[in-house]
Parts: sequence; structure tokens; C-alpha cells
Amino acid sequence: MSKTNLSYSKYVVDKYEYDLKGDVKTPNKKEYLLPHDYKVFFKEKGFCPFCNERMQTVYQNYKSDTIGVDLFESIDIWECDCGFWEAFSRFSEEKDLIYGVDSKHWEKLYYSIIASVEDLKKEKAVKQLVSEILKDSTLLYEINPTRLEEIAQYVFSSYFNCEVEHVGQSHDGGVDLLIINSDKPILVQVKRREKASSVESVSTVRDFLGAMYIRNNYKGIIVSTAKSFSKPSEKIVNDLKNENRLEYFEMFDFSRFSSTLNLVNLSRKKNWEFLVETWK
Ligand SMILES: [Zn+2]
Repeated sequence: MSKTNLSYSKYVVDKYEYDLKGDVKTPNKKEYLLPHDYKVFFKEKGFCPFCNERMQTVYQNYKSDTIGVDLFESIDIWECDCGFWEAFSRFSEEKDLIYGVDSKHWEKLYYSIIASVEDLKKEKAVKQLVSEILKDSTLLYEINPTRLEEIAQYVFSSYFNCEVEHVGQSHDGGVDLLIINSDKPILVQVKRREKASSVESVSTVRDFLGAMYIRNNYKGIIVSTAKSFSKPSEKIVNDLKNENRLEYFEMFDFSRFSSTLNLVNLSRKKNWEFLVETWK
């Protein structure tokens, strides 16, 4: 089972704290807290280590104030097309001395982490595919079924705001994705139908319900690029829901899935936005 997490929600924070005291030209530096990763912390900021390219500045701000001492605060956030981002924040407190310097400095470097270069390439490909599908949703009928599973992974990780595992090629009894939003994941099956006019049959839904019941899991989502789910398949689901034999079950047909894709893409927050919030 290959596990891939397409979200960049993980990041590292590294800190550096020091004092400067003495005469202006050659003050004494006293370091209180050293970065865990010295090499990364002191490298040139705003450079993507994966693409080896200068990143775009996506946010920049600073504040200064004098309350007995001079206070200065700044932040710079960079982001690469590949999704990698980095933020550098600085805070300092400086005594206003005529001769000499007496200041304290707090620096923080935030940077996103990903599992591997493979994941990064995959995420880049998924984002590109999503932007093409948003322009022409009929592409959903043509794409490779595995790609469709990755698109669904992208959609649900944003929709539920949690990690979604791609179960992968093994086609583990009809389960393609696991939405990890509680102790028991929501099981997801993704069906790619090539014809815009197709209707998802009752046997597809019944098979998937069987796969869920074998796992003693009563939470599921079925996605299909079919125009709709057949009346008998809707009836089975409704009957089971009424008998409390399903905890959660949702069916996404073509139009529901493509409108959800639009929605999550519009509302998708950047992982560094929480840093910007504190400056508002
Ligand atoms: Zn990059």
C-alpha cells in the first residue's frame, strides 16, 4: 500500500535568539538559542531547494515602535510554483544609546516539508491537472483512473481539511482513498466513467457497501463521473441510512464532484496564511 499525502500542511519552525552589546562597530554577540538546522537557517532566504530557483515574495510586512526601547518586527514569506514555501520573521528590541548598542533579537524560520521529491512532482502534476479540469470539466471523462483518484484526494483533503491517504494501485477491495478525520477513516471509492450519459448502477454501490461492511466501517463516499446514480442505488443507501446501518454515506456524481472541485479550489487556503493573520 503506497501512502501519499498531497497536502503541504506540515512545516518546521526553527529559532535563533541572541543579544548584541557593546560598541556599535564590534558589539559582543551572545547567542541564547541556536537553530536546529544551522545550514538551512543561514542559507539564502527565498530560494526553493527543490527547484533551485528564486521564489516569489507572497507577503512582506514590518512594524516599528518606540516604547522606552525601539521595537522592530518584520516578516517575509516566499512561495514557489511547486508549492514549497518559506517564511522568515524577525523581532528586535533595542535600547536607544548614544554610544554603543544593547539589543535583543528573535528570529524564526518557517518552511514547508514534504515526504519526498516524488510527492512534490506528483502534487505539481495534480495542481496542473486541476487547473485544466476547472477550464474544461469534461476532461474528467478522459483522465486515467489513478489520476482521478488523485484529484479526489486533492478535493477531499481540502473539503474535510485533513489528511487523505491514497491507497494506490493495489485496489484494496474497491477502496481507493482513506479520509483520516477520526479514528475510523471514511472509505472512498472512485469510479471513472467515460460516457457523459452513463448512470452508476446499483451493483457498483452494493459492491462498495460490501467492502465497507467487511471492514466494519460504516462511513463511505462514492465518487463517479457518471451523470447520476441509479434510483435503486439511491434506494439502497437511503434504506440503510434509515435503518441506522450507515454512519455516513455520500454519493458524488459528475456535477456534484465538479462543483465541489471548483469550491475547494476557490477556498483553498495557503498553509502560510496563518502567519499573515497575525499581522491584520
Ligand atoms: Zn520549487
